[in-house]
Amino acid sequence: MLLSLLAIGAAQALVSCSAKPAAPAAPRPAGAPVPVSARSPGNQLAAPRPAPAAQQTLPPIPAAHPENPAVVFGAPAPTRRIAITIDDGYSPETVAGYVEFARRSGIPITFAPNGAYRAIWDRHADVLRPLIETGQVQIANHTWTHLQLPGRPDDAIRADIERNEDWIERTFGITSRPWFRPPYGSHNAHVDALVGELGFTRILLWNGSFGDSTPISPEQLMGLASRYLQPGTIMLGHANHPTVLGLFDQIQQLIAERRLEPVTLDTMFQTSRAVG
Ligand SMILES: [Zn+2]
Repeated sequence: MLLSLLAIGAAQALVSCSAKPAAPAAPRPAGAPVPVSARSPGNQLAAPRPAPAAQQTLPPIPAAHPENPAVVFGAPAPTRRIAITIDDGYSPETVAGYVEFARRSGIPITFAPNGAYRAIWDRHADVLRPLIETGQVQIANHTWTHLQLPGRPDDAIRADIERNEDWIERTFGITSRPWFRPPYGSHNAHVDALVGELGFTRILLWNGSFGDSTPISPEQLMGLASRYLQPGTIMLGHANHPTVLGLFDQIQQLIAERRLEPVTLDTMFQTSRAVG
C-alpha cells in the first residue's frame, strides 16, 4: 500500500492528463527521491482500416499474457536512455505536429492516445504505420474515454481499455499490451489486478513531465524540459495544447547536448509488439 501511495503521490506531483484547466503542477522538490522502478502491491496480491498487403511487415497480434502488473516510473537501470511518452490528443494541430516531429527527427516516441479522439489520430495512421513498423514509434493504452478508473465498475474499466485496444489494433496494426497508462496516473491495487488480467502488465507512470496537460507558456515548458530530461527519465507530454509546437527544435537540441538517447518503452524495457 505504501508503494501504491508513493506511486500516486509521485505521479500527481507531476500532474498529468488534466482535460480540464487546473492549477499548474507543483514541481518535484529538488533532491526529492523518485522511485526509478517499483513493483505494485497488486504484485503481492494475488471501422477497420486493413493495411495493404504489401505493408504487412508487422507481427500478428499476439494473445494477452495476464499476470500481476509492475508499476514503472523510469528506466530499469542506469542509462542515458529516455522514453518520451505523449498522451491523449485532443488538439488536432498538436497531434499533427508531434507526428511530423517524429517523422522528420527520427526520435523514438511512445504515443498513448485515447480512442475518443480517433477522428484526430486516424488521419495520421498512414504516416505512423511505417514508423511503428521500424520500431521508432510505439502505441500504449490510455483508455478510450480518459475517465478516472478507481471507483468505476469492473466491467466499465475493462470495456474502456479493450475498446481502446481494439481501435489501436485496427488503426495501427499492433497491440498496445503490455503497456497501460492510467488516466491522471490514478490507479490502485484493484485497478492494477483488473488490467493485469487483460494482459496489461506494465502500469506506465513517469518521473518527468513537460507539464502541458493544461496550457502553459513556452518558458514554463522549456523549464520543465530542462529540469526533467535527464538520463533514465520517462517523460510525459500531451498532444493537447500547441505550446510545444514551437519548441521541438529546442527540445531536440537539449537531448543532443545532454547526450541522451531517446527510445521507446519496448527498447527501454525489452518488451515487444510480437509478444505483447
Ligand atoms: Zn491522459
